[in-house]
Amino acid sequence: MSEPIIYVEQLRKSYGSVEALRGVSFQVQEGEVFGLLGPNGAGKTTTVEILEGMRTADAGQARVCGLDPRRGGVAFQQQIGAVLQQTALPDKLRVGEAVELFARLYGRRRDLGALLERLGLADKQHAFYNTLSGGQRQRLALALALVHEPRVLFLDEPTAGLDPQVRREIYEIIEELRREGKTILLTTHYIEEAERLCDRVAIMDYGKLIALGTPAELRQRSSNTTRITVRLKEPIEDGRLRQLDGVVDCRPILDGYLLHSQRPPQTLVALVKQLEALGNELQSLEISAPTLEDVFIELTGRSLRD
Ligand code: ATP
Repeated sequence: MSEPIIYVEQLRKSYGSVEALRGVSFQVQEGEVFGLLGPNGAGKTTTVEILEGMRTADAGQARVCGLDPRRGGVAFQQQIGAVLQQTALPDKLRVGEAVELFARLYGRRRDLGALLERLGLADKQHAFYNTLSGGQRQRLALALALVHEPRVLFLDEPTAGLDPQVRREIYEIIEELRREGKTILLTTHYIEEAERLCDRVAIMDYGKLIALGTPAELRQRSSNTTRITVRLKEPIEDGRLRQLDGVVDCRPILDGYLLHSQRPPQTLVALVKQLEALGNELQSLEISAPTLEDVFIELTGRSLRD
């Protein structure tokens, strides 16, 4: 295998008494889309900021394109593009001016019109920043990160806070970049984002990687359980559902219960009997294969949104 384009070995970082990273190691090959998936506070942003050269690790090694992010200087900056968790530009800066400004900062002159076109911002070229919607601002942040044609793109929570339709637009842009062979490291706490966009995913919790693989490999880890989502007429003690034949986990969700079963047919029979005995009724039932969320629950006993 060729030299990894991102190399991370035993990274550690503390903020006072908070151990944000407790020995994180992974490698990314050129052309891969690699996801760091985990709940808030898992250490995703800290990892990315070290790789971008914005923070210094307390211990361990980080290399991007063969360079130390803290010492790589201009050569390093030319190779990476970054979309931070929040981007703020002056209200009265126009979209076209922002792109021009960044291109000048990097000393590059690519076809900026084509870049804006590609990100769906061609008709916004003369618009002030403060008139843009959340999705347009995020597409502009992507344009600014791509202005110098970097080899590696870091995206920290690229769709956080955007509505589902806008989120899908951003997914399409990332998918296009992936087809072009751009190496992308993204952080997310959205399962859908990790499953849809990433070639490989590292699941992170409390400053450690707790699983790493392709989405399919990770899902297979929990392939001995099936998700059964039920909505009932009346609430029920989740302890009762946990005792049903085959059930290995049960947790309340927004409007029902999520069960994990190793023997779905037996669980369903037992569920129907239990509800009959209690005078309760099923309102809906959904059976599905495990997701990355299930892998996370199995590994940590919590859900990503707990
Ligand atoms: P989020 O999605 O909320 O950004 P994350 O997975 O990216 O979460 P980090 O932002 O890396 O996690 O935070 C890891 C831990 O370090 C958290 O407990 C956080 O509160 C703490 N932390 C992060 N930045 C700082 C800082 N500048 N000073 C002190 N503590 C910090």
